[in-house]
Amino acid sequence: MTNQRPSSTKVVEEPFKHVIDEYKHKLQRVTCTCGWQGSSASPDGVSSEWKAHHVANRPPGSSKR
Ligand SMILES: [Zn+2]
Repeated sequence: MTNQRPSSTKVVEEPFKHVIDEYKHKLQRVTCTCGWQGSSASPDGVSSEWKAHHVANRPPGSSKR
């Protein structure tokens, strides 16, 4: 995370995003920027705790129907 903002570009208010803040590769452990922690291990290659969290918290309007 960085607190620096370029002053020459206009500031855009972005919706809060759930993104990986820290990823422990060995443990396949993800820390989200919201504080959520879970596994990114994907036994079936499709779903994982992290993916479920990310999808569940995705901002409105970002999903296509
Ligand atoms: Zn989150």
